[in-house]
Amino acid sequence: MTITFTKTASRRNGSGHREQVQAHNQPGFSTQALHAGASRNHPHHSLTPPIIQTATYTFEDTADLINFMDERMFMEEATRQEYGRYGNPTVRAVERRLAALDHGDEAILVSSGMAAITTALLILLSTGDHLVVTDDSYHRTRVFVNRFLRRFGVECTIVPAGDMVALEQAIQPNTRLILSETPTNPFLRCLDLEILVEIARRRDVRTLIDSTFATPLNLRPLDYGVDLVVHSVTKYLAGHNDIMAGVIVGKGGLMMALRESQSMFGAVVDPTAAYHIGRGLQTLGLRVERQNANGLTIARYLENHPKVRRVWYPGLPSHPDHAIARRQMAGFGGVVSFEIEGDGAAAARFIDAMKLTHIAPSLGGVDSLIEQPAIMSYYDSDPEERLALGIRDELVRFAIGIEDAADLIADLEQALERV
Ligand SMILES: *Cc1c(COP(=O)(O)O)cnc(C)c1O
Repeated sequence: MTITFTKTASRRNGSGHREQVQAHNQPGFSTQALHAGASRNHPHHSLTPPIIQTATYTFEDTADLINFMDERMFMEEATRQEYGRYGNPTVRAVERRLAALDHGDEAILVSSGMAAITTALLILLSTGDHLVVTDDSYHRTRVFVNRFLRRFGVECTIVPAGDMVALEQAIQPNTRLILSETPTNPFLRCLDLEILVEIARRRDVRTLIDSTFATPLNLRPLDYGVDLVVHSVTKYLAGHNDIMAGVIVGKGGLMMALRESQSMFGAVVDPTAAYHIGRGLQTLGLRVERQNANGLTIARYLENHPKVRRVWYPGLPSHPDHAIARRQMAGFGGVVSFEIEGDGAAAARFIDAMKLTHIAPSLGGVDSLIEQPAIMSYYDSDPEERLALGIRDELVRFAIGIEDAADLIADLEQALERV
């Protein structure tokens, strides 16, 4: 038996936040994160689902194989698997849960967040097509679009995140897709999805949102009419900095086309990795609630600190997209970006003095990570290009984990004394 869930309504709570509330008979987020798409009975009465660790599947005899071939020709989804790249029950169960969490019909789990983005773009775009991308986005996404897709005759216009006039003006007759993150990295810009979808529909363009920084707890772009959502599952969804994966979520026929091509691209997830993702999803609600709370507490602390020049966090009224974030998100996530009062060396002294955090890329896991984007992501980039994006040497990105906020603040306090 499978449990499928559809819509969860949202309403404002006392503090003006949007909170997901259970519509009649609709389970809440954490219930879905545990049970959606799962079978109730597992072999050997095991409570936990088995890991079906196999690369291929066997057939009883030739008649059994012919039966399967006939079934595959006439049915949308076969009742059994044939070969590991085309499907795996452990992976499938996690895909159903991810689809439910994002309010999609279908989810395709792939081997990394970049595999989700590149797979979606390669399937949706053809030579002569044009796409629009917002500027404050994952560095490798921009590199893929600018260097790689261009070789195949796909043109791209990059517009400033949040500038909806520039976004609409960038749309050409051959524009097929608008791609953006929300919130973006590292400045946490939030795109107004109602306006985005209104523009895209009017101009007959598809929309793809990289929702990694939001998680389905805080935002569900599909509810706004966005066509496709991708996540780096490596981050919040798996949540423990030990698994790499990505997911594409959407509705209807578009997902069927993606599924067919994905089995050809081959960026599949190993069944054991899928099991660990499923395990991570069980605590997604709890972890992200803590990360939302930590993010807000720490952003407020940093904003009032004399050694901090500026803080970017969508939960702060000082953030340019605070109003949008409040309207469309249930929480603001665990990433806070800020500039140290001083130069890059001062930022490095501060980071090196932090004791609870590790210097590492990535975000969304249980443990806190910290980095200087100018070094971690842009070391080999043209400094002028980097500065044009606003990435100064003294910018710090703090990806907050689930530690106690008081301990993180005590750590920040002693480290900021070194600035
Ligand atoms: C990390 C990240 C990616 C890439 O995901 P991988 O799992 O590392 O391939 C894409 N988009 C965003 C917003 C990310 O943070």
